[in-house]
Amino acid sequence: MSLKTIPVYHVAGVGPARGRDLARLGIYTVDDLLTYFPFRYEDRSAQPLSLNVNEKHVTVRVTVTGKPGVRYRGRRSTLSVPVITEEKYPLTAIWFNQAYLREQLQPGRLVTLTGKLDRMRRTLVVAHHDFSTSEDSVHSGRFVPIYQVCGDLTPKVMRSLMMTALRQYGAQVEEILPHELIRKFKLINRREALERIHAPKDEQSLKQAKRRLIFEEFFLFQLKLQAFRYLHVHQQPGISHTFTDEEIERFLRALPFRLTDAQMSAARDILRDMRSAKPMNRLVQGDVGSGKTVVALMAMYAAFVSGYQSALLVPTEILAEQHARAAEKLLAPLGVQIELLVGSQREKERAERLARIRSGEAHVVVGTHAILEEAVQFNKLSLVITDEQHRFGVRQRAIFRQKGHHPDVLFMSATPIPRTLAMTLFGDLDVSVIDQLPEGRKPIETYWVSPAKEDQVIRFIRNELLKGRQAYIVAPLVEESEKIEGVENAVDIYERLKDRFVGFEVGLMHGRLKGTEKDEIMRRFVANQIQVLVSTTVIEVGVDVPNATIMLIYNADRFGLAQLHQLRGRVGRGEHASTCILIADPSTETGVERLKAMVSTQNGFVLAEKDLELRGPGEFFGLRQSGVPEFKLGNLVEHAHIMRVAREEAYRYISNPDFWTMPACAQLVQYLKEERVLLAPLAD
Ligand code: ADP
Ligand code: MG
Repeated sequence: MSLKTIPVYHVAGVGPARGRDLARLGIYTVDDLLTYFPFRYEDRSAQPLSLNVNEKHVTVRVTVTGKPGVRYRGRRSTLSVPVITEEKYPLTAIWFNQAYLREQLQPGRLVTLTGKLDRMRRTLVVAHHDFSTSEDSVHSGRFVPIYQVCGDLTPKVMRSLMMTALRQYGAQVEEILPHELIRKFKLINRREALERIHAPKDEQSLKQAKRRLIFEEFFLFQLKLQAFRYLHVHQQPGISHTFTDEEIERFLRALPFRLTDAQMSAARDILRDMRSAKPMNRLVQGDVGSGKTVVALMAMYAAFVSGYQSALLVPTEILAEQHARAAEKLLAPLGVQIELLVGSQREKERAERLARIRSGEAHVVVGTHAILEEAVQFNKLSLVITDEQHRFGVRQRAIFRQKGHHPDVLFMSATPIPRTLAMTLFGDLDVSVIDQLPEGRKPIETYWVSPAKEDQVIRFIRNELLKGRQAYIVAPLVEESEKIEGVENAVDIYERLKDRFVGFEVGLMHGRLKGTEKDEIMRRFVANQIQVLVSTTVIEVGVDVPNATIMLIYNADRFGLAQLHQLRGRVGRGEHASTCILIADPSTETGVERLKAMVSTQNGFVLAEKDLELRGPGEFFGLRQSGVPEFKLGNLVEHAHIMRVAREEAYRYISNPDFWTMPACAQLVQYLKEERVLLAPLAD
């Protein structure tokens, strides 16, 4: 039986209470438990203790030599126990607030202590203790794994559970990697690796365990991506769109501007894919404001003249409305029927729209995830585009692919990701890059000023408002209750500045508002009924209000570079010159570096590289919300070489037509099934 199907309750020592705590950590099965890895290790190997050596944190084996004493001060207690080390140094071991240990610390007792040594006073304040004396105890005497815990779980409890689980189920740990790979890369087997990662004997053995598990993690990730690609591109017949060059010309001539070279080159990639019988599977990466929407509309027009429907999926209602408006403006005059589909529409209206989509009367459907619902049936769907792709997961992509007749799929992302990283992360996609802004854009003047200059800044903004412009003001926090020393919050700023902008409407927006309330405030800002929008970072990625020319960001050093770049990208979208003001008094070197980078360049790809360098990929772009996967052990920068190899190997396996039936790969195919990569049955 696979350990993925054995509930963690079967591990001795896990009852309802611990089960609940484990569930909060995402641990439900034995496999979940064994792949819950330590986030660091402490070297607690007992060292011969010399009181002359200048080391504060020590691990020593001692024998209790006298009666424990306890002193109370209010609710606090101090337990002092006279002990002697193996080297015959007498010490006083001290525990805080653990008076109950007195019973166990009777004279003659052997115990291993880790803690802070005070040589002058000959005291040792104990941080960890362990009564077991055997050499290979789990809790001390070597590299001790430290786990992230919650509830009543302690790292110590976790260690015990791991040991129990390994004892009970170690023999059932199955190898998932093909032997060929294990041999080729001299990896240790899975069972051995799990045992070592939870109870390493020394640094070398830990290293091998990590290397093996990181390879596994990356390889399975790449295998999933490549399998998606294979199933999508090779297993299913795609649609060959039949539009002509003249028809595309007609669309381009109707535009109020000329496409940039970068837009044209992405457009050509897309049109080529659409004409081909192979399904399109492409990512368009464009810097903020580079004009991705019009490229998407062109693709939708190409689907329309070929006799098909297309869908544009976006993360929020505001963006859906914005894109529907753009489509109305550019496509409706060419005879295209556009349908907006969002969650907040009334039943009757929705039913009518669904009917038009089903009958094929609607050619272009723009909407939020409402489009994914089962009730939405297309007549002849041939193209699906998702904007700001990073908000959508692999699973949603798969649903979409199933909706139509294996439609062409296009992803649009405004999050510049360093090219090397993009190739790795989007291993299943072809990538086009729009790395050029439309001509005539005035650069966004970017300033970094100290908080002391706030007054001047506000006067400057007032002046811009008087000229008819609008402004965004962004703060890191919502309100004071979560106050961190010296960090501004949106509610306070709103109260403080409201009266400074007499004659103008100031709006307040943050994540605590309901979705519909946020949409309403955003709508009023778009309609210029609000001139100053004070907000947290909930301002939508992708929102296009050309009349807004000021972006003021408080405590700018607290944001990541990519986020600052996204925020700045909200301005500079129209004919007027725009300004981005970063108020910050950074306390860290990294903060200073970030602000300098923001002031020095406006190129998202350059900033992305810098961000990666400054933060490492773990925090890169706030990856958690951006949909870029997080790995348990692997680090995308540090282990880039492993990822590269894993990608090559995954590609080699998936492109072998016998992969799906080879006995040596049965485990891998099983894994892909469990991960629901194989939603559609394989064609024989
Ligand atoms: P993003 O890539 O950030 O999604 P948008 O598609 O919202 O950018 O485009 C930003 C603005 O630039 C829009 O108002 C759009 O009409 C305009 N635009 C797009 N392409 C061009 C172009 N080639 N020349 C001039 N303006 C353009
Ligand atoms: Mg956009």
